[in-house]
Amino acid sequence: MVKICSNATPKYAAEFTQVTASKSATVKCNWVSVEGRGPRSPLTVMAAPNSTPPASAPPTSNGKRFLIVFDFDETIIAENSDDAVVRAAPGQRLPDWLTASYREGHYNEHMQRVLAYLAEQGVAEDAIRAALEKIPPTPGLAALFHFLRTRQDDYEAVVVSDANTYFIETWLRRFGARPLFRQVFTNPAGFDAAGRLVLRPFHAHGCARCPDNMCKQVIVREYLARRREERSGRAFQQVLYVGDGANDVCPSLALGPGDVVFPRRDFPMHRLLEGAAGGVAGPGPLKARVVPWSSGEDVVACLQTLDSATTNQSNEEGDV
Ligand SMILES: [Mg+2]
Ligand SMILES: [Zn+2]
Repeated sequence: MVKICSNATPKYAAEFTQVTASKSATVKCNWVSVEGRGPRSPLTVMAAPNSTPPASAPPTSNGKRFLIVFDFDETIIAENSDDAVVRAAPGQRLPDWLTASYREGHYNEHMQRVLAYLAEQGVAEDAIRAALEKIPPTPGLAALFHFLRTRQDDYEAVVVSDANTYFIETWLRRFGARPLFRQVFTNPAGFDAAGRLVLRPFHAHGCARCPDNMCKQVIVREYLARRREERSGRAFQQVLYVGDGANDVCPSLALGPGDVVFPRRDFPMHRLLEGAAGGVAGPGPLKARVVPWSSGEDVVACLQTLDSATTNQSNEEGDV
C-alpha cells in the first residue's frame, strides 16, 4: 500500500494511480495535533509528533556531519505496517463495507476507521503488537543499521513516515533500533482508556502536492532549520533520504545538489524520480543525486563512498 498525494498534476496523478493500485490515500483533517496547539486526547501510549527526543537519543551534537532521513513502510520494514495489522482482524481481512468506505485522498481517516473496527472486534493491543513485531526488515536493513551504529559520531538519523507512532515505536523497539533515531516524525497514535488504538493526523501544511495530514518536505525543512539553529548555525554537510513511496518525492525535492536521495528500486518513488530526472512532466526539479537501492547494503556502499569523498574534500580544504 502506498499513501499518495490527492492534488497532483495529471501526469503525477497518472503515475500515482499506476503504482498504487492496491491502495492510495490521503486524509482530510482540519485540526493540528502538534503538541500544545491541537486538541488534547486521553491517549496514553505515544507522544505527539513534535515532542522532545527520547531519553535514549544522544544529546544535541555539533559534530555530526550527515543527516540520514528514513521512511518506514517498505523502507525500514519489508511491507506496509497497516497491511500487517489487518492480519490481526477476524479472518485476517477487512469486511467489504470497510474496504469500500475508503475515499481517495483520505487515507488517514480510513485507517482511523480500520483501527476502530479492530477495537470493535476485540482485537487488543497484544494482538496488534504481535502483528507488528512479525514484520521483517527490508533486505540488508540490518547491515545499514549496523553501519550507522558504528558511525554515530557522523550520522544523525530520523524517521519521517505516514504510519503512526505506535506502529513505528513498537517495531523499532522490538528490533533494538530505536536508539539509532534522534526523532520519529509520524502521525500520533495511542491507546485510549477503552483500549482502542486512536490515530490522529500529524500536522497541517500548505503543500498542494501532499495529503493534508503530512508533507514530508515541510518536516525535513523545519528539522534542518531547527537543527542548524541548535548547532550554532552549522548545517549538515550532506542530507541523505531513503524511501520508497510516492510521498517520499516531495521531500526529495528539498534537497540540494550535494545531497543524495535513495529511492527503492522499482518502487513508486524510483519511478517518479526517473520521470523528474528525464525532464518530462514530473514532480519538479530534483537537485540531489539519485542512488536507487534494492538492499540496505547498497545504501551502505554509497555512504562509504560519500564518506571518504567528504573526508578527502575536508582534508584538501584543510590543506589550503
Ligand atoms: Mg514507504
Ligand atoms: Zn509536500
